[in-house]
Amino acid sequence: MRKIRIAIDGPASSGKSTVVKILAKELGYTYLDTGAMYRTATYLALRAGLKGHQVSDILALIDQYPIGFGLAEDGTQTVFAGDEDITLAIRQNDVTANVSWVSALAEVREKLVAEQQRIARDGGIIMDGRDIGTVVLPDAELKVFLVASVEERAERRYKENIEKGIPADLNQLKQEIAERDYKDSTRAVSPLKPADDAIHFDTTGVSIEGVVAFISKKVAEILDKD
Ligand code: C5P
Repeated sequence: MRKIRIAIDGPASSGKSTVVKILAKELGYTYLDTGAMYRTATYLALRAGLKGHQVSDILALIDQYPIGFGLAEDGTQTVFAGDEDITLAIRQNDVTANVSWVSALAEVREKLVAEQQRIARDGGIIMDGRDIGTVVLPDAELKVFLVASVEERAERRYKENIEKGIPADLNQLKQEIAERDYKDSTRAVSPLKPADDAIHFDTTGVSIEGVVAFISKKVAEILDKD
């Protein structure tokens, strides 16, 4: 069967990564969490005490500690910078609070987008991010733009953080998510926005299974046409 490229975009905590992981497993596709790549760059920049004007130093760190993915024993995805497991470190609040400025650096995006496109070259890929349908995979056979209310997204993130042992405050999360939406949507380079040919889906009040079923149906429709 033909293998397609699927682009899932949307704002912070819109349910993208949970849904995408399930779909990748169901379809036997490669899953790429592009947010984890920007988070890794942010982690490296913060650890070295770098700021936005030191972009060439940030790029050098990405070369020195290449971003890699692995699988934990329980089947969940792990993230590496070089050989250091940073799966949990990149979800901490300091990384989340700083990822928007790092991901707004054009040179960082250029480097990570090239890497993302290389990984997608052979098809059979499902990627989630902000600019997948517009910049990374403009020719993707299926593009979905997921949205959800700020309240619901903050509640989802709150539960996730508590489960991971990351300190969380619901009101602060609401504010943080709204701020990150604003920064991601208004930045000059590759802002968060739906591709013209993306299918919009509001996941407010919709279960994970519901979102998975919606996208699976769209995939089946495309493959049925072959
Ligand atoms: O998806 P996640 O919330 O982990 O993404 C973290 C941040 O990485 C986003 O807020 C955004 O600034 C950046 N990002 C991006 N482009 C992508 C994926 C994520 O700019 N394709």
